Amino acid sequence: MVTGDQLLVKQLNKSIVLNVIRKKHNISRAEISNITGLNKSTVSSLVDELITEGFVVEKGPGISKGGRKPILLNINNNVGHIIGIDLGVNYILIILTDLSANIIWQRRIKLKANETEKEIIDKLITLIQEAISASTKTLKGILGIGIGVPGIVDFKNGIVLMAPNLRWENIKLKAIIEERFGITTYIDNEANAGAIGEKWFGAGSKVTNLVYVSAGIGIGTGIIINDELYRGSNGFAGEMGHMTVNFNDHDCRCGNIGCWENYASEKALFSYLKDIASENKAVQYKDIEDLSVFDVMENVRKNDQIAVRALREVSKNLGIGVVNVVNTFNPDLVIIGNTLSLGGDIVLEEVKNIVNERSFISSYYDIKIRLSKLGMYSCAIGAVSLVISKLFASPQI
Ligand SMILES: [Zn+2]
Repeated sequence: MVTGDQLLVKQLNKSIVLNVIRKKHNISRAEISNITGLNKSTVSSLVDELITEGFVVEKGPGISKGGRKPILLNINNNVGHIIGIDLGVNYILIILTDLSANIIWQRRIKLKANETEKEIIDKLITLIQEAISASTKTLKGILGIGIGVPGIVDFKNGIVLMAPNLRWENIKLKAIIEERFGITTYIDNEANAGAIGEKWFGAGSKVTNLVYVSAGIGIGTGIIINDELYRGSNGFAGEMGHMTVNFNDHDCRCGNIGCWENYASEKALFSYLKDIASENKAVQYKDIEDLSVFDVMENVRKNDQIAVRALREVSKNLGIGVVNVVNTFNPDLVIIGNTLSLGGDIVLEEVKNIVNERSFISSYYDIKIRLSKLGMYSCAIGAVSLVISKLFASPQI
């Protein structure tokens, strides 16, 4: 008779073994036993189960350190596929990946400004259908769907409580997608998804404490403490875009005044651009409303001085908020992601300068600030990571 406790212990051990194989690649059963402290027969039986279930594959013999050559183990990336969706304010990016988040197929569509919630959900469903069709045959098919959304999310129940830029309230997105496709679906805030994505597959893979700053149309942050996403009591943690950096100016759509995101987002970039362009009578910016943030970043790359100056101003403001982040969390790493990170070294340089100038704790430790490694895929890969992190936590499915 196996008790519930024994099952739980076995499940935990299985997850530990699977994660060691993921992190180390080409590892033998004996090495897993050394690293985990689990005895060799336990490791062997767990590995056998993982092989039978398709999560792990054996790869030819490795180099012998005396005695029999060990069989090396790897994650079976093609056991199944995962769908990740970045639901943006004006676009949807959908990707299909393997178990190591390698992108197999992707599509990006634009959303118009006034699309209704039903229209957007219909488009989501069509795109998911396309992704499923693009998936080749695997042992387990589609292992899950992850969706990152720009708003406050009840993660447990998969409800989008409020996404102001989409004008969504109380949308039971998880239930809608699961009912339609019968595939387990996870919904999270886009910055949380981005943070998990960077932790699993990006710039944060080697650190324990990190804050991911998603600077796009607004600002969101995803906070990872001791390798785990910090959600707060009700799941709303990370709304640092709405911390007050000026208590007199700039009404915010959240009801507060002077929130960080009004000074350091795409909106702020365009507002600086407008001012600097009119000061300099810059004809290339006379139809500024027609430009996308990507056009502006392209101008930055071409060293257009108006665009570079506007980006520097916004990046300084971004740095002000990062000072607060650093003083609050003392993280190993701050990652700047989303569209503003496309500004590259200029953004990084200005943020670092401000942090060095203003964060008093910066004189006691070397604060690492980096740009997102996943770039425009942060949220989509993050959405995939929501699924993968669950699979690796309980690989019995
Ligand atoms: Zn606000």
